[in-house]
Amino acid sequence: MKASEAAKLMPPQPFFPSYSPFQENHVPATIYYDADADLKHLAGKTIAILGYGSQGHAQAQNLRDSGLNVVVAQRPGGPNYDLAKSHGFEPMSVEDAVKQADVINILLPDELQADVYKTAIKPNLKPGAILMASHGFNFHFAQVEPPAGHDTLLVAPKGPGHLVRSEYEKGGGVPCLIALGEGASEATKQIGLAYAKGIGGTRGGVIETTIAEETETDLFGEQAVLCGGVSELIKAGFDTLVEAGYQPEMAYFECLHEMKLIVDLLYQGGLEYMRYSVSNTAEYGDYTRGKRVITEETRAEMKRILEDIRSGQFARDWILENRAGAASFKATRRREREHLLTETGRSLRKMMNWIDSKEV
Ligand code: NDP
Ligand code: MG
Repeated sequence: MKASEAAKLMPPQPFFPSYSPFQENHVPATIYYDADADLKHLAGKTIAILGYGSQGHAQAQNLRDSGLNVVVAQRPGGPNYDLAKSHGFEPMSVEDAVKQADVINILLPDELQADVYKTAIKPNLKPGAILMASHGFNFHFAQVEPPAGHDTLLVAPKGPGHLVRSEYEKGGGVPCLIALGEGASEATKQIGLAYAKGIGGTRGGVIETTIAEETETDLFGEQAVLCGGVSELIKAGFDTLVEAGYQPEMAYFECLHEMKLIVDLLYQGGLEYMRYSVSNTAEYGDYTRGKRVITEETRAEMKRILEDIRSGQFARDWILENRAGAASFKATRRREREHLLTETGRSLRKMMNWIDSKEV
């Protein structure tokens, strides 16, 4: 077959354009700051925050402190219910919160949202109410599909809830992403920017994106780099040292504990500051050995992981896993905790009372 014929069968993939890691002429993202957003677009409206967990407790309090009208839905019987009460909210059922809301932010675990949407949200929507989320999974993979007349909107803080709250209290804010669902109006965008301002996001910057881009990059980041990549990298390093006869305590410090020191440098000044700060020996080892760990094969696997996300395969797996009572998820969670790393870390952290150790 001629190359031109092959090209017809396999059109170029728009998502993998010819990319050079050294390219300089990319189009900068649109980023909104305080002056681009006006809280008046939410004045007189009721915002329902569904769930008082990590994101819920932070967003609800920040919005209220910004002078907006917030109601909280939180099931009773757990610590988050008491927390909401202690913060001065009157937690109610999802149904009751949705009935009075003009803007509804679903801040329940992603795997529960579809069920709660069908049973408790959809039947109680006020005309024109806007549905929001902080992660696009259920919008993008068609698990939450509101009827005509209801826009969807994403305002996604790029940090965990406790930081969304603490940064706001300090006068700062965690940067956010904003994305509109298909067909959403300009008025909804203004509401989204006002919401982002209300939680402090416009202080740090609010990047305009699409629900597809947020969902796909977020899933990819956590699978390939932040959670999946880092966990396996740590375990592989730890196992290698322990199998070679080194003490597990040494392996723990080297491969896990010190990760924080490196990540702090990366956070402050990128790869260049980390490499500036470590010894020349470490920097030389980085350049000459790193590519033997993350090989061309690893990069090819990353592309397959991304393709699983984009094709909906990952979403399907995760949705079906939950339909099966998360049997395999729970078994894996249990087995992962049996790793030698877990015990080693637990006893070492006991001796480091200054690190604010958190034991699960
Ligand atoms: P959490 O797990 O911290 O909180 C979940 C909330 O849902 C809690 O209020 C919990 O109540 C409630 N809930 C859990 N199970 C049920 C149930 N069966 N019935 C009714 N309520 C239930 O969630 P997050 O804040 O982490 O996540 C919320 C959303 O924010 C997700 O879409 C997530 O992707 C997104 N997000 C999260 C980030 C993070 O760092 N955590 C960052 C950016 C986005 P209870 O306490 O009673 O269990
Ligand atoms: Mg993420």
